Amino acid sequence: MKPVLALVGRPNVGKSTIFNRLTKSRDAIVADYAGLTRDRHYGNGRLGSQEFIVIDTGGFEPKAIDGIYKEMAKQTRQAVAEADVVVFVVDARAGVNAQDHEIARYLRKLGKPTVLTANKAEGMTEGVQLSEFFELGLGEVLAVSASHGQGMRTLAELALQPLNLPDPDEEGEPADPTVIKLAVAGRPNVGKSTLINTWLGEERLVAFDQPGTTRDAISVPFEKAGQKFELIDTAGLRRKGKVFEAIEKFSVVKTLQAIESANVVLLLLDATQGVTDQDAHIAGYILESGRAVVLAVNKWDAVDSYQRETLERSVETRLSFLKFASIHNISAIKRQGLGPVWKSIVQAHASANRKMSTPVLTRLLLEAVQFQSPQRAGMFRPKLRYAHQGGMNPPIIIVHGNSLEHVTDSYKRFLEGRFRKEFELVGTPLRIQMKSSS
Ligand code: GDP
Ligand code: GDP
Repeated sequence: MKPVLALVGRPNVGKSTIFNRLTKSRDAIVADYAGLTRDRHYGNGRLGSQEFIVIDTGGFEPKAIDGIYKEMAKQTRQAVAEADVVVFVVDARAGVNAQDHEIARYLRKLGKPTVLTANKAEGMTEGVQLSEFFELGLGEVLAVSASHGQGMRTLAELALQPLNLPDPDEEGEPADPTVIKLAVAGRPNVGKSTLINTWLGEERLVAFDQPGTTRDAISVPFEKAGQKFELIDTAGLRRKGKVFEAIEKFSVVKTLQAIESANVVLLLLDATQGVTDQDAHIAGYILESGRAVVLAVNKWDAVDSYQRETLERSVETRLSFLKFASIHNISAIKRQGLGPVWKSIVQAHASANRKMSTPVLTRLLLEAVQFQSPQRAGMFRPKLRYAHQGGMNPPIIIVHGNSLEHVTDSYKRFLEGRFRKEFELVGTPLRIQMKSSS
């Protein structure tokens, strides 16, 4: 499981600038997708081959008292509590203030690995100005400048160091390829627990007990129609007598980790609410993770035809980047529409692991070019020569040729459509990479 790093600090110290720096490489992948919200608070970072999840906790108010602020503060405290390491950001120019002290007190009590980082330190002589941050009682302070990109690598190194992570290049036991690891994701109240309870309560679905270590996601193995599944916990699964039940408890950290650990993510939406920002954020994270995905709009029983139409439109506009996924209208409570969801989950898994041979890929590529050749760009005319599979889960197709940097996005989408159709790829992202030899 990827470690989780939470950025905390008062407003304006530069948390989101640091967040953008740490998650930059990944943002490039998703930049082209229309409808994908950019104002996310969580993303993927990478240090060498070690990947990690970064959470920008936004406005950290240890003592928020009422209403929505209280709820936000609760989510923030929960994210911090569940993170593996905290990066506490202070402002090197502004110096220590009362709010910093309050956050420091909170973090000292929490007792989790914490890296104290003084941002905006470009052009400052270290030591003198930074010594005042020692009074926060959190040890050494690391001087960085996020806007100048200084110290970001050291920050990631210092943050991950205390975790003693196993070398990501040395794989542990290989996962059983016949088991589909499934995560049911969605914001609070969309009906995750209801759906899981409905499923786990079914006789044909046999759940086994399985102990897990703290860093492992808790998961429930079960079988359905001869297919083995493993349900990964996002909602706090509890054992209640002989059955499992999902208790109502939303955790961003658990959701992100479950998505990462899954082969297929079932993203639940609430028909009565439409597509909200939080739905789009979770969907964006799923896309970024490269996982196969199935969409289900729950509570279909509770909406009229007008709401149904509005909903369909909002899925089309706000989640357009997931149009490769199947979508189902269901009612967890009334147990309606659930059968096709299972079929799509199996189909998405198979698609994500499809093997595509070089001769077939190359034939398809050349046929596509014959049907419609790529546009000339000034003096350059891209020449597409052959294609091979560069990876699975998600499938990656690497196209070789010349002047391929001039292939337009719309032409790539055209190719994607042809490949998807031929290999029946439904429910998985497909990445097409161009590799020019000149
Ligand atoms: P947040 O509220 O903690 O997320 O802070 P932001 O990332 O939004 O940054 C607040 C302000 O500080 C913005 O105007 C940034 O451009 C600025 N800022 C961020 N990092 C640096 C830095 O390293 N040096 C300087 N001088 N300004 C910075
Ligand atoms: P979770 O937070 O995503 O786990 O959501 P819950 O399973 O706790 O459900 C939230 C609320 O939605 C509960 O009051 C459920 O009874 C209700 N709910 C769940 N599924 C359905 C459904 O299919 N139709 C309707 N009308 N309500 C549902």
